Amino acid sequence: MAGKFMAMAPTVCPKCSGVMEEGLRFDYKLGELSDDYVIEDKELVRERWQKTEVAVGKFLGREYTGKRRIGPRLAVITFRCVDCGYLESYAPPTA
Ligand SMILES: [Zn+2]
Repeated sequence: MAGKFMAMAPTVCPKCSGVMEEGLRFDYKLGELSDDYVIEDKELVRERWQKTEVAVGKFLGREYTGKRRIGPRLAVITFRCVDCGYLESYAPPTA
């Protein structure tokens, strides 16, 4: 993990000044795995963030405007306040 990110990682909640803990948001795919399972940093099932740009798509001959994802697929790290439950997410550059 990038050193700059670790230096900026929140340790104090911006809402209530409680303690922030590092964690990982997950959907049902990761939820089906045991807590003992070690999730690799580059694991595909991890929540990702990716930059987008406006793009035109085509479906069944119809054109529509939407977003296309570009750039690296960064893994998301989410911190949670142990007191108020506030979540703060980061997608640090890959080292
Ligand atoms: Zn808090």
